[in-house]
Amino acid sequence: MSRINIQNLTKEFGTGSEKIVAIDGIDLTIEDGEFVTLVGPSGCGKTTTLRCVSGLEKPTGGTIDFGDRDVTDLPVQERNIALLFQDIALYPHMSVRENMAYGLKIAGADKETRDERVQEAAELLQITDQLDKRPADLSGGQQQRVALGRSLTRDPEIFLFDEPMSDLDAKLKRDLRPVVQEVTEHIGCPVLYVTHDQEEAMTMSDRIAVMNDGHLEQVGEPKHVYRDPKSEFVSGFIGQPSTQFFDGTLRENDGTVLLDLRDYQFTLHEDPQTFDGYLGKDVRLGIRPQQIGVEDDQSLGIAATHKLDELLGEETMSYFDTEFGEVIAITDPKFEGDKAEYGLVLDVDSIMLFDPDSGVRIH
Ligand code: ADP
Ligand code: MG
Repeated sequence: MSRINIQNLTKEFGTGSEKIVAIDGIDLTIEDGEFVTLVGPSGCGKTTTLRCVSGLEKPTGGTIDFGDRDVTDLPVQERNIALLFQDIALYPHMSVRENMAYGLKIAGADKETRDERVQEAAELLQITDQLDKRPADLSGGQQQRVALGRSLTRDPEIFLFDEPMSDLDAKLKRDLRPVVQEVTEHIGCPVLYVTHDQEEAMTMSDRIAVMNDGHLEQVGEPKHVYRDPKSEFVSGFIGQPSTQFFDGTLRENDGTVLLDLRDYQFTLHEDPQTFDGYLGKDVRLGIRPQQIGVEDDQSLGIAATHKLDELLGEETMSYFDTEFGEVIAITDPKFEGDKAEYGLVLDVDSIMLFDPDSGVRIH
């Protein structure tokens, strides 16, 4: 039984005016058999976090435990981890079979055990017909399967991934995702997976940890984080297309709460007390493009000029110009904007409000 427990992890690079705080006090626990994805934009500290967990990087502060073992100061080779990166480092002169068996061979396993474990892994990875090929004869996706297989045969205590699919095209990514899930489920250890790709994070994970500028913004099940983002950052980062934002002002009028977006006015259905401290103040409105209706009659919503449509299949992404800037709405696949004038109708009950300074969700 294992479990990753990260407490108050910090990592700084450089000193004085050159100092970079790459990780700024992270707490995260990953249970045995749990798949947790660290997701966030480039440079937010994902790789540094993973390198600290693996032992490749020494933290500036905080602790990392595997089960009841404090591994904070243990070197990487004493942590029994599997690590997969974007760059796939297979031995070019060895066959796929030899590559997958190599770790076991070093560990002193006999040939029968090696063959058995490689065969089992190859079946799980659907590469039994590739075992006698050289890595150079395989596609990127198949090479990554072999790298997975090599880790699988070693039966690691912890599985760590850093953007293993970044080099693969969209189809290979979609094919590989369920394979990664199956393999990690099979091993049943804690998995820490790093990606900047929110779609990958949403589809693969038990929980996602959204990272921004060295700290965790929100940790939770993908659907909960999507439905109930706790900050403007999370709302904008999770979900495709991204949440659309507008600047507005809240005020109270006769016991009801009004939200002004320049000349447009929305009546919120909540009690004024809900917005204590924000009445009379500027707020940031966020709404998912799926909750923006498009009306032919411009007077029914925010005046908008249609720019272009992108057909996604079951739905269309429609771009509009408004006085608030560009706004994206999800429309029916039959919709054709024809560069005409429309009214954008925001579903009041789907409106999210954020503090414009801190980005914290206030409603
Ligand atoms: P991510 O993986 O999310 O893109 P990283 O963890 O690689 O982010 O980097 C986080 C921050 O730490 C960045 O500002 C990066 O430039 C900095 N950083 C990472 N590694 C080093 C290093 N070895 N020396 C100095 N700065 C580093
Ligand atoms: Mg990285």
